[in-house]
Amino acid sequence: MLSVVTDYLTEALGHVEEDRSGSLAGYIPELAAADPHCLGAAFAMVDGTVYGAGDVDTAFTIQSISKPFVYALALADRGFEEVLAKVGVEPSGEAFNQISLEPGSGRPLNPMINAGAITAHSLVGSHDLDAAERTRRVIAGLSAFAGRPLSVDESVCSSEMAHAHRNLAIAHMLRSYGILDDDPRAVVDGYIRQCSVLVTARDLAIMAATLADHGLNPLSGERVVSESVIRQVLSVMATCGMYDAAGDWATQVGIPAKSGVAGGLIGALPGQVGIATFSPRLDAHGNSVRGVALFEQFSGDMGLHVMSVP
Ligand code: GLU
Repeated sequence: MLSVVTDYLTEALGHVEEDRSGSLAGYIPELAAADPHCLGAAFAMVDGTVYGAGDVDTAFTIQSISKPFVYALALADRGFEEVLAKVGVEPSGEAFNQISLEPGSGRPLNPMINAGAITAHSLVGSHDLDAAERTRRVIAGLSAFAGRPLSVDESVCSSEMAHAHRNLAIAHMLRSYGILDDDPRAVVDGYIRQCSVLVTARDLAIMAATLADHGLNPLSGERVVSESVIRQVLSVMATCGMYDAAGDWATQVGIPAKSGVAGGLIGALPGQVGIATFSPRLDAHGNSVRGVALFEQFSGDMGLHVMSVP
């Protein structure tokens, strides 16, 4: 079995290897310095078996792939009512860094765009945590999803913090509407540390498998969050996970997913498998070019589209 799946993954990587289109995320200088040739893919089954091919042990920053997991932690720590009062669940169809807030209330439309993700970060842990304690809780939570302790890439973190004007602007807007209670700069600082957590494609596959296994980490056996939290998170990933390409993704791939600007991409198929790919060049929507192509192959070859007849 091991070699059949690994051979399949190696072959799939071969089909996309020559594609050099897209470009590295340029707005965070450290990300623009990444190796554009990296390419890897991993499957983590809900029984804990992991298959991988290519650069599955190369570390890169998690970026926006942290968003569904941190949303899960906020729901687990504060409950649905408190989180929904501050972050909606409607697709925005807009780019990740749009200042999309609900007219009137100022509530971010969903937790997969930056406005909602910054708010979700602020809702992790109990009310009395200070910013540093909250960020530690976030990183510990991401580590529980991965089944091993994760650390922060300090150079990516400070590089992004030095260019965080837009996220700071979003956080100040949120503070003016009373969506954020804390100091906007401290929240953005924590959110950027969250985005700078180092992972490999193997880690991401296990994190996705924890979503697929309804909150149970298949490696450590730890229950990270409840089934009801996972249902909420997967639903939001299905509708909002791929920035302004969410509709194309839903029709062509049909797996709840989330991408990040460092080139990672995850998909979680409930009850079955967590999938992760890594390839840093991005398309116009900010999604990994070869990652999207790989997911299209996986979905087509194995009939993974959640709407297709089994
Ligand atoms: N840290 C990035 C930002 O907020 C994450 C963006 C992404 O991966 O889409 O700008």
